[in-house]
Amino acid sequence: MFITPHTSLALWISTRITDPLLAFILGVVSHFVLDIIPHGDEQLGRHIKDKKQRFIYFIKVATVDLALAILLLYFFVAHGPIVNYYVLASAVFGTWIPDFSWIAIEYFKLNKFYWYIVYHERVHRLINWQYSIVYGVPFQIIVTLSVLKISF
Ligand SMILES: [Zn+2]
Repeated sequence: MFITPHTSLALWISTRITDPLLAFILGVVSHFVLDIIPHGDEQLGRHIKDKKQRFIYFIKVATVDLALAILLLYFFVAHGPIVNYYVLASAVFGTWIPDFSWIAIEYFKLNKFYWYIVYHERVHRLINWQYSIVYGVPFQIIVTLSVLKISF
């Protein structure tokens, strides 16, 4: 799933929890829970055959996604119900780290941690139902907006 819906859940967590460590743990857990739900981006970049080109494509998409997530975070800091900045930062970091680890392992070719990529992919296939990004993007927007609605 994109970073933006994960971030929206981090905002929600930050309004319910006062302990930064717990916020971080719940952020990580929430990431994998969201990833279990079939979200339509599993086929993203599959049309690109070259592995390196596909990774570059992923990074481009991730950059736009991250920019949206930061915008969302900025909007929340400006208008949302902040409980504690440390809690907010911990929750956001918790929801981001699972995908950032994946990108870092892939980018730096950290073969020792490749098991993590296998695990992350396995989470995505727990419910083996894939559908088009054409439905995936609207679905993820709905998830983001729904979580935002209960966060503000
Ligand atoms: Zn993920």
